[in-house]
Amino acid sequence: MNPAWRVAFYTLGCKVNQSDTAAMEAMFRAAGHSIVPAEEAADVYVINTCVVTNVGQKKSRQMIRRLVREHPAALVVVTGCYPQTAAEEVRQIPGVGLIVGNQHRPQLLALVAAAKAGGQPVSAVDKITQAREFEDLPIAALSSRTRAFLKIQEGCQQYCSYCIIPYARGPYRSRPLDSIRREVEKLAAAGFQEIVLLGIHLGAYGRDLPGVTLLDAVKTALSVPNFARLRLGSLESVEVEAGLLELMRDEPRLCRHLHLPLQAADDSVLQRMNRPYQAADFDRLLAAAHRLVPGLAVTTDVIVGFPGETDEQFERARQTIAAWPLAGLHVFPYSPRQGTPAAAWPEQVPEAVKKARAHALSEVDRQLRARFHQSLVGTTQRVLFETQGADGLIEGLTDNYVRVMAVGDEACLGRLVDVAIQSANAEFAFGVISQQ
Ligand code: SF4
Repeated sequence: MNPAWRVAFYTLGCKVNQSDTAAMEAMFRAAGHSIVPAEEAADVYVINTCVVTNVGQKKSRQMIRRLVREHPAALVVVTGCYPQTAAEEVRQIPGVGLIVGNQHRPQLLALVAAAKAGGQPVSAVDKITQAREFEDLPIAALSSRTRAFLKIQEGCQQYCSYCIIPYARGPYRSRPLDSIRREVEKLAAAGFQEIVLLGIHLGAYGRDLPGVTLLDAVKTALSVPNFARLRLGSLESVEVEAGLLELMRDEPRLCRHLHLPLQAADDSVLQRMNRPYQAADFDRLLAAAHRLVPGLAVTTDVIVGFPGETDEQFERARQTIAAWPLAGLHVFPYSPRQGTPAAAWPEQVPEAVKKARAHALSEVDRQLRARFHQSLVGTTQRVLFETQGADGLIEGLTDNYVRVMAVGDEACLGRLVDVAIQSANAEFAFGVISQQ
């Protein structure tokens, strides 16, 4: 019988990567091993890497080298998008004992045992383009005891010209509906009040399952009774079905929040990004969604300084975005990612210009958030309280993704509570608990 290992995890990147790590932790725990904090001594260190930007890849390399240097006797395992996109490069890093691509995580324990027994570096990385099965890893809670993330979709085949993800995550794969029901039942039974459905390209859920769409996955999750709210992770605007909006209007457990990455609001920039829509399409969707779902929050991502983006194009886009009924933006200065078409294009925008554009759009973000938060003043909102600050204030989220602070006690944590919203700013809304 293998002795129990102390296993530590480092995770870089997106929520999907974090949920993959949580699932791997659950596998080790289920096999009798202990998960220790990353800064503590361990027998096995697992780094779940990210390469969405060059910086992400550099940080992954630095972390690998540091762990090898600081823990020469431990097994250092590298998994995630770095070995999947650059296996040979990772193999060349001295001291790495095991590398695992984005397809072999279910076999991780056996691979670790083999690497520890053999003393020779082990590698399990296959061509991701050939992946067909959704990796059915066990679900596990992340940090919060209130909200759980459930990954139901993997892979992307859209090939936006700035994005490396399709090369790291492979073709579309979906968690079968019965697996979704089973996992949601487990999470609800474990007491989670909010479940967030996640995917690399969530809107493509079901593309590999004939006759199945994201709407079916949402209905399947909502068919499980004993949890309070279902939230959707990031979704491509072109994949928001009318049925989903109607369900969001009619089903109070489905959060009135859509995070729809826009990336740009100028059609020629969108075309060069290989995004499958124009600004007018996004405008129409916003209008239809707000008409159908009162109180809906639509948030988005925007890349500034994409190669070839002129001052005029940016300014026009900034004004368009500022006028849209959005509840907030995430602003990303374009970061050339080696291995993507756009990184090789000559008309790169200077860093100082990117910085200035990011600053200008962050100001728009602040105004949009303040405007949306203000729209809740005078209303009563159901808030899922999660934390209590040193100042005694409790904090939580509304279904339409507004952070609310109120005077309340620990008994409110992990529960849905009605709050009368009294004031708001760009960061928070403040209210008084009106019903326990
Ligand atoms: S949709 Fe585009 S940006 Fe999103 S993961 Fe796929 S290629 Fe990347």
